[in-house]
Amino acid sequence: MAAKKNSVVETSRRNAVAGRGPSIKTPTLAQNPYLESVYQEVVRRNPGECEFHQAVHEVLDSLGPVLAKFPEFAEHRIIERICEPERQIIFRIPWQDDKGEVRINRGFRVEFNSALGPYKGGLRFHPSVYLGIVKFLGFEQIFKNSLTGMPIGGGKGGSDFDPHGKSDNEIMRFCQSFMNELYRHLGEYTDVPAGDIGVGGREIGFLFGQYKRITNRYESGVLTGKGLSYGGSLVRTEATGYGLIFFIEQMLKVRGESIKGKTCVVSGSGNVAIFAIEKIHQMGGKVIACSDSDGYILDKRGIDLDLLKRVKLEQRKRIREYVEQQPKSHYVAGGNIWEVPCEVAAPCATQNELNGKDAALLSKNGVIAVAEGANMPTTPEGVKVFLDKGVAFGPGKAANAGGVATSALEMQQNASRDAWTFDFTEQKLRQIMMGIHDSCYKTAEEFGTPGNYVNGANICGFIKVAKAMVSLGLI
Ligand code: NDP
Repeated sequence: MAAKKNSVVETSRRNAVAGRGPSIKTPTLAQNPYLESVYQEVVRRNPGECEFHQAVHEVLDSLGPVLAKFPEFAEHRIIERICEPERQIIFRIPWQDDKGEVRINRGFRVEFNSALGPYKGGLRFHPSVYLGIVKFLGFEQIFKNSLTGMPIGGGKGGSDFDPHGKSDNEIMRFCQSFMNELYRHLGEYTDVPAGDIGVGGREIGFLFGQYKRITNRYESGVLTGKGLSYGGSLVRTEATGYGLIFFIEQMLKVRGESIKGKTCVVSGSGNVAIFAIEKIHQMGGKVIACSDSDGYILDKRGIDLDLLKRVKLEQRKRIREYVEQQPKSHYVAGGNIWEVPCEVAAPCATQNELNGKDAALLSKNGVIAVAEGANMPTTPEGVKVFLDKGVAFGPGKAANAGGVATSALEMQQNASRDAWTFDFTEQKLRQIMMGIHDSCYKTAEEFGTPGNYVNGANICGFIKVAKAMVSLGLI
């Protein structure tokens, strides 16, 4: 997986630099000339942003039956408007490394859609970040946030800064410089960022500290994913991973199955992956493999979660260190984690990490459920294989919505100056994920594609935003 993933990222970046992204070959949109023309216009107006094109294509592909039922959405040009961000901010981030050298990175915030509430979505720090990635993530976020049922719009941001190998002081100086520009666009009723790849509790702390310093306001609701000592919510750290497994639990239940006793594979070893593994183990399943961008580990007795947390969260080391401390496990450098046979698979690393061949291999090896902890980790070809083979497939905008839903719970607690218990908050998260599952399931059925959670999530998420946009007039 690792080598392939990096090559995907490299290709995206090269295309971005060259200003030419590959068009998606899936022909289905051509059956609807209006949607096809909207899509072609998106590609023309946003050259080189191949991940953004991919995310738009996937949503538009589900919307034909919606336009037939709600012709007013086309009259109001809702689809054209929803594909165009309300605001895009790109800025310079100068900072000094520990040697005193001046470094320059680029910062982004795409405020995509505020029909349902303030822009809400994470910040990603990773060298692959460019406008196309931030836009794909922001676009997905609109529908994900809509699915949670909470009053939050969609946005996303980040930087091409690489946190790997940086000291705490370098991370702090970078975060402070990033916030020096970003703060003027934020506010609890305007835009509320959170974490994503490369942005966890440490970074949110530095960002919040700088926001407070610049504005002289203790505005807890301006960032989520905060530490517990200064306004964070219990369960927010675990929420995306736990929520993902609650979603899988529901998909399996529909099929008369459960997680108990299932062999599982989870890619990545970051925030989402670690807590997905934790919840699988709590529910009686067994995760035997996880990864980082260098390779994967295989521990057939089940991943030792305490050791994994120590290596990744405390020591901030590479995943291969796990094997050094657990000699009965194996490390496969540069290997493809999807070659490991399993019944449940959860891609939790990054976009386009699981392709058509991987999907075919997973289904040949007996996978029955796949759900996306990461955003858009499965390529369109991969999704098609899972749907064709009848694998229960939970798309990211539904399956990983637990993170942002719990961010909204954090905002609720901040607004009411309250702090809920772990059990109470986890119970709320579980109910939200069950609700999202049921809405997607019912919507898929209502629009003629039973069991297709991709259509269910796209349609259900879209309709609510579209109705709000119609009601709000031409804004
Ligand atoms: P982390 O930074 O905590 O972990 C990311 C993991 O994915 C690491 O193991 C990392 O390995 C691997 N990874 C990241 N980028 C790449 C890449 N280009 N190629 C190969 N491997 C990569 O991030 P999160 O766990 O927070 O996020 C993981 C995914 O979940 C992302 O897609 C994110 O958008 C999505 N998500 C996160 C939410 C959250 O609450 N945090 C909410 C909803 C979705 P390495 O260290 O080698 O880079």
